[in-house]
Amino acid sequence: MTTHLTESTLFTLPSATISGQTHHSSTTTKTPLHNASTGAQIGWQEHANSDQIDAAVRAAHTALPAWRATAPTTRAKLLKKIAELIEADRERLTAMQMQVSGKPPFEANLDVSDAAATFDYYANLCTEATTFAPEQIKLPDDTVTGERYYEAVGVAALIVPWNFPMVTTAWKIAPALAAGCTVVLKPSEFTSPVEHMLAGIMAEAGLPDGVVNLVNGGGEVGAQLTAHPLIDKISFTGSTASGKKVMQAAAQDMKRVTLELGGKSALIVRADADIDRAVTLAVGGAFANAGQMCSATARILVHDDVYRKFMAAFETAVRAVVVAPPAGDDVAMGPLVSAAQRDRVQTLLAQGVEAGASVAFSGRLDAACGEGFFMAPVVVAEPAADNVLWTEEVFGPVACVKSFRTDEEAIALANDTRYGLVATVVTADPDAARRFKTQLRAGLVWINTPQLIFPQVCWGGLGLSGIGRELGLAGLRSYQELRHAITDAS
Ligand code: NAD
Repeated sequence: MTTHLTESTLFTLPSATISGQTHHSSTTTKTPLHNASTGAQIGWQEHANSDQIDAAVRAAHTALPAWRATAPTTRAKLLKKIAELIEADRERLTAMQMQVSGKPPFEANLDVSDAAATFDYYANLCTEATTFAPEQIKLPDDTVTGERYYEAVGVAALIVPWNFPMVTTAWKIAPALAAGCTVVLKPSEFTSPVEHMLAGIMAEAGLPDGVVNLVNGGGEVGAQLTAHPLIDKISFTGSTASGKKVMQAAAQDMKRVTLELGGKSALIVRADADIDRAVTLAVGGAFANAGQMCSATARILVHDDVYRKFMAAFETAVRAVVVAPPAGDDVAMGPLVSAAQRDRVQTLLAQGVEAGASVAFSGRLDAACGEGFFMAPVVVAEPAADNVLWTEEVFGPVACVKSFRTDEEAIALANDTRYGLVATVVTADPDAARRFKTQLRAGLVWINTPQLIFPQVCWGGLGLSGIGRELGLAGLRSYQELRHAITDAS
């Protein structure tokens, strides 16, 4: 990389990295990059022009035959090396995430661990004999044999948002490379510095030129990428509104799609729940990453019998959340990613209150918050079923609490959304937990745990939350085509 990212002067990040070479754009479009905790501009991200987008896709297309033909064990070694280099660069990657996104140290560190673990997991999967071995199919005709096998789908366009930049990127790049695909990545223009670092790490690991390429910019760059005829597969993470456009673009050439979209998830506190644990899970589920999570469990459902006790303990916990720049280890919540995102969240909150929702209590900002894009956590009690805060994804530190009387009512309230990403249930009753697991409309259900994510466990939602699954073996298969052969046995 040609740019020193930690200099105090404004830096300018290149618009594209194609076959290992960085390129600057002659167009004037560029996005300012900020330090979310101070509000200060730290640099610029140039946007790729049409020629660069085309060149990046062509580079990936040229690199495809050789990469697809490498032995899975060779791909495993490279993925393992990337995981090791991420670990070795932990300090710099963590510092950059803290600077750009304002993530507290433990959250920034967790992102680095998650990215490294994802590359490591897919390295290991590449070495398992069953991952790539053809499977025999029993047929009712012994004059022929049947076989199913998986082949890399081709060139993949990977488009990611700004809330967990390095993590979402690793979730896409690692399985794509493991499967034998070459890729063009488009990071979010607001948090691209970590992806530039990751690109440097992948080059250092020895990935052949053209296997991973980067184009930078906003939705217009993403749209051109998805429309390119040499793209075979699109893996997109972002809002449901953008996901619909991506799916429409993909339809032109029947490109394969994986869509990881929005959510409006529930956390259910049964009457038998351990209330201290429920409060801890509610705080983490609604306010981790300053609530900027597709998986935010911002609709909290609490049984009537424990409602008052829960709300009292929740209020104490929310008021104790330290919202501050990511300097000390005690900081629990950082800023939102940008002034625009904070404005968006505050506008939605005002709309909800205007429509009758009442704020039960809020947290507070530390004096050190200054000009950063901070917002204190807010808890709304008993909003109406059609209140915007109950129905719309807020993507910020705003949680709603509603009471219920029966499990059936809790399940109906939780499922009363067109999204279906995740859910959390807090209960001491294993039978109830089993019922909730099957009846909640969600891709992943946590029972009495925080939002644990492992590369071994798939991620993805139902309904408006998206199509397909990332992580796990299914995540790798999503970058492969399932194929069959029937062979004369004589
Ligand atoms: P966004 O949809 O605005 O942008 C996401 C990415 O898509 C960005 O890189 C953007 O430049 C690009 N993009 C925008 N329009 C495009 C188009 N027409 N074609 C191609 N690319 C386009 O979303 P955001 O504001 O960056 O992120 C927040 C959203 O992401 C939330 O809705 C959140 O729920 C969702 N999200 C989902 C998951 C998940 O795993 N389900 C994870 C993280 C975030």
